[in-house]
Amino acid sequence: MTASRRQTVFAGLDRPQAWPALRGRPHPERLDASLDTLPGVGPTIKRRLAKLGLETVRDLLEHRPRRYEDPAREVAIAALGGDEEVVIAGEIINVSSRRRGRLTIVTARVDDGTASVGATWFNQPWLADQLRVGVRVRLRGRPGRYGFDVRAYDVGDGEATADFAPVYPASEEITPKKIRELVLAALPHARDYFDPLPAELRAGEGLPLKADALVAVHHPRSLGEAEAGRSRLAFDELLLLQIGIARRVAERERTVAPSLGEPGDLIARYRRALPFALTPYQEQAIRELDGDLARTIPMQRLLQGDVGSGKTVVALYALLRAVENGRQGALMAPTETLAEQHFFTIADLCLELGVTCELLTSALPAREHAAVRARFRSGEAQIAVGTHALIQQEVEFADLAVAVVDEQHRFGVEQRKALVEGRSPHVLHMTATPIPRTLALTVYGDLAVSEIAKPPASRKPVVTRWIPEERASEAYTRLTRLLREGRQAYVVCPLVEASETTLARAAEEEAERLRRAELREFRVGCAHGRLKPAERRDLMARFKAGDLDVLVATTVIEVGVDVPNATVMIVQEADRFGLAQLHQLRGRVGRGAEQSYCLLVSRAKEELTESAQARLQALVDTTDGFELAERDLDLRGGGHLLGTRQSGLSDLRFAHIRRDRALLERARAAAAAIGTEPGPLQDEVDELFAGTDPAALA
Ligand code: ADP
Ligand code: MG
Repeated sequence: MTASRRQTVFAGLDRPQAWPALRGRPHPERLDASLDTLPGVGPTIKRRLAKLGLETVRDLLEHRPRRYEDPAREVAIAALGGDEEVVIAGEIINVSSRRRGRLTIVTARVDDGTASVGATWFNQPWLADQLRVGVRVRLRGRPGRYGFDVRAYDVGDGEATADFAPVYPASEEITPKKIRELVLAALPHARDYFDPLPAELRAGEGLPLKADALVAVHHPRSLGEAEAGRSRLAFDELLLLQIGIARRVAERERTVAPSLGEPGDLIARYRRALPFALTPYQEQAIRELDGDLARTIPMQRLLQGDVGSGKTVVALYALLRAVENGRQGALMAPTETLAEQHFFTIADLCLELGVTCELLTSALPAREHAAVRARFRSGEAQIAVGTHALIQQEVEFADLAVAVVDEQHRFGVEQRKALVEGRSPHVLHMTATPIPRTLALTVYGDLAVSEIAKPPASRKPVVTRWIPEERASEAYTRLTRLLREGRQAYVVCPLVEASETTLARAAEEEAERLRRAELREFRVGCAHGRLKPAERRDLMARFKAGDLDVLVATTVIEVGVDVPNATVMIVQEADRFGLAQLHQLRGRVGRGAEQSYCLLVSRAKEELTESAQARLQALVDTTDGFELAERDLDLRGGGHLLGTRQSGLSDLRFAHIRRDRALLERARAAAAAIGTEPGPLQDEVDELFAGTDPAALA
């Protein structure tokens, strides 16, 4: 991009700011001030903000608006009509509130001298007290079923109905409007950022000052201005990331792993022992993996594939490559249940191949635990399966050559660090949370990516329905019909914020209720996090064997459960779950050749937040995990995506991984020019990567 074109991109910020100039000495420490230092934030609001990840002034300033209000015409009430979004302004002449089922409707009659209209708000009963007769209001919305359907409002002076007013990700407990007010209150602190970009770089790239960029993002006068600001902030993020990645690459190239040569006889026998032919995607992943294993630089590969796409087969392949070289492989899962499941999946095959495979769990009595560890140490056990406990330092291996880490984003940084300290195995990370390729390349940098883009051909996509609570009985009707046909089912209990124990009790109660009501003719089991490992194993085994028809469960069934005959799932209060989580849950069905169903039950649409609606709709629209990941990215911003949290890179807030390809290239070039040259940027990189071991991720 030429300098002059850049100039136009950021032209919006060349004009004087509508906001008072933010000059003066920065006080970066003020950005760390707790949010209750802002006016209007007491303990309750503080707690609600914290749930959104907003704890400091900095968090608030870096809370990216999800979108901006369109410019809307201001019209006279007498001229209202059509369904275009418009702004009206007038005086409140009366206020009333009523209920319709679970819906509360507050209506304020507003008069602007030309006519009056009943303006309506849904489920905000407290508004009845704020909207007083005689008060002047500005309302943005459109004519609707009950009068004028309000989307944003200002009482007296305010910003919410302004053109380009930012709309923030919010929650049920805290509205975008409240967040907007708080951001505006915090905005003068934009000057407290220390601008990390060297002046020449900033000028060369045609980027605005950081403080100006923040103001533009939160208080733009046009979309162009907002975008100019966002780009600057995104550039910072991408630049820091690229500098960090360059460091990690350098680090890794200093370590050495054993070269495992070409696949041999054991692998040939493994292929023959599989009851199916590998899909082209699996074959491709294996080719890529073989390429890595032949080298002496430790493999760091991310194997992505949706739930049920067949990653485990590839994982076992990698482990057997170590075994046929006379070395060891380790397979690690984030929980004991998952470790057990992996073990059961691969144990038979290992037996058939004459490979010794051992499971290490905390459920083992101390003597046995020690004995298993001794067999890892002596090399007698060729494949080790377990949780991250495997990589704690007291577990020693004779010669660990390949480590497979399932759902690696769940591993804490410390655990990943322990894995590589003093050892340098080839590492295959597996994830079923599809990370858009662009994001993977950005966040994981040099981590090579293999993708299993499609499941084995025999599968049918899961049919997903979104069902309002009043019609929940329809979901159970469908479920019981399928159960009578011999299928099995999951019922997922609501995700409530409670202790593991409370959750477990709620699940037990729900199971009991279903046994008496909808599911009275069926055998119903209940799985939750409070079961002892042996109990849980037993329960899972009974479900798998078909001795139970229905498994009522908390999210413990999220990953790894593989029961092809289970073809229907009901998720209760589905709006409480995140998109990725629902997708994971849905992956428990649709694992066999039969048509499967996922029934998402939630409160009525009008009662849900915009983003909850968008999440559920996305699941109905597609079963493609990558597509969903992209939508999740849009809804939440990259920083909150699973997989980036523990990477130490959760600060990717403004960069839009899909749209910012060009910006990423610019950042990459700038990072290369900066290299390891000391300066404030390097300090920021240190901070960003603090607590992450470069070698653990690179
Ligand atoms: P993931 O770990 O990616 O969720 P799994 O490896 O558990 O998926 O595979 C899901 C199911 O598909 C398993 O029952 C597995 O045996 C089966 N499977 C794997 N690869 C193939 C294949 N190439 N053809 C048919 N079935 C397969
Ligand atoms: Mg799996």
